[in-house]
Amino acid sequence: MGDYIGFEQKMERYRSLMDIPEEMIFFFEQDGFICERNKSVESQLEYKEEEYIYIQDIFRSVFRLENGNVALAGKPEAGRFETAAYRKNQTCITASTYIHFLDEEETGCYGMCCARNIGKYKETAKDLISAKVEVEEAHKERNEFVANVTHELRTPVNGVMGLAQNLLATSLTDEQKESVEIIKQCCSSMIKIINNILDFSKLQSGKFTIEYNEFSFHQMMDKLVKVNMPQVEDKGIKLICNVSADIPDMMIGDELRITQVLNNLLSNAIKFTSTGQIVINVVKTVDLEEEFELFFMVIDTGIGIDEKEMDRLFKSFSQVDASITRRFGGTGLGLSIVKNLVEMMGGSVNVESEKGRGSTFSFSVRVKKAGPDINGKTDAVKESSYLFNLGDIPVDDEEDEGASLYILGSPENISEVRANMEKLVICIEMENWERADSFADNIKQLVAEDTMNLKRKAFRLQMTVRKGAHEAAIVQYNELKEAIDKAFGEEEG
Ligand code: ADP
Repeated sequence: MGDYIGFEQKMERYRSLMDIPEEMIFFFEQDGFICERNKSVESQLEYKEEEYIYIQDIFRSVFRLENGNVALAGKPEAGRFETAAYRKNQTCITASTYIHFLDEEETGCYGMCCARNIGKYKETAKDLISAKVEVEEAHKERNEFVANVTHELRTPVNGVMGLAQNLLATSLTDEQKESVEIIKQCCSSMIKIINNILDFSKLQSGKFTIEYNEFSFHQMMDKLVKVNMPQVEDKGIKLICNVSADIPDMMIGDELRITQVLNNLLSNAIKFTSTGQIVINVVKTVDLEEEFELFFMVIDTGIGIDEKEMDRLFKSFSQVDASITRRFGGTGLGLSIVKNLVEMMGGSVNVESEKGRGSTFSFSVRVKKAGPDINGKTDAVKESSYLFNLGDIPVDDEEDEGASLYILGSPENISEVRANMEKLVICIEMENWERADSFADNIKQLVAEDTMNLKRKAFRLQMTVRKGAHEAAIVQYNELKEAIDKAFGEEEG
């Protein structure tokens, strides 16, 4: 007797648990009679506790009676499926339903059914879908409008630019010449903005494609440096370009888009740097059978970016603060275009920066190999010798003016690295962390990433120096020194 009461109490407890979920729960017998149900059934289907209900009256398209037994009307989909559940007043709700047939002898029931009212979710989903369609339509219209307007703007601006150029070829007074130069500069800034807006709207509407053609990497870098050199010289800063010797000259990729990305990063670096230098490092990071990855770094010693602003950088129309727009101009589209283009070329873009100390923008792109004889050491050696044959651009200018182009491992560069290392170790020993940091920074700028991972080692050393950990800094220093000695031979120092 005691056991029996315990069983009944337990059953009561289980029954009350059934009332907790919002889901409707039904247990039914062979003829469809619902022998057990939870409170949700009453509240949602508006039946009273004492009313008899049959499962086939609620789920009319799911069950039917066959010779007095309830059977499935069709074969419902496996798992949950969507169906109508009829209320007492003959209206219905949409329910996500689940049926399970039971062992009648063991459970006393023929089957169970769970049903969740999904009417309101369906409404919300419908609203969301139509909102999405509306937004997409609006985006499409906006992009088409922007593309048309910018296209229309380009023609007159190009016209003014052309006329200004013609005027400059005539005899003008100094004052007139200066004015025409300003007109020309304004036109080229406008063309830059128009092109950015046009590219942005093309990227947004998915009309941008990457074209794969064979091109000369060194000619591309050559052009990049030449085009940007006037601005570098105007600002009185230095441009250093390190290209790892194992990068073959000919490759297959989108030269125009790689140049566009580099131009964007380089022109930002020039814009935001007023003293010091800009270093472009290019290394080969992944070498597969048919393609390889190029890793570019554009390092500047400019105004830097606040850590909390970095997340916003690659979003469209984002400039880190409004005063920057007033001071430096721009639309905040450049980096968003860079991110899109780099991702379309199978790579990614990244930034490391410190306010007041400078920024490093890096990105990778995948390119295809141009031919079986293009890769390998012999070419690398050959290329090193004609790398950056820049004609009128001074190479390794002693006076530090304008461009200075090194190849990593050239005697000038490596001796500079070693000189900085000597000073660095003295500073570490004397625990003069501020000076040590600046020497570590110089080394970091001077070495290009290569197979010995010099750049990474230099970076780690600088980070340890910043922490002011004496012993750890010496360990890092020795590691870097060993790697440099291995890469360039001790005799060079
Ligand atoms: P914009 O075309 O206006 O320069 P970008 O998308 O290229 O737009 O850059 C967005 C913002 O990121 C810039 O306005 C600037 O605040 C910041 N930024 C980009 N590059 C640098 C850099 N090298 N140094 C400091 N700030 C930078």
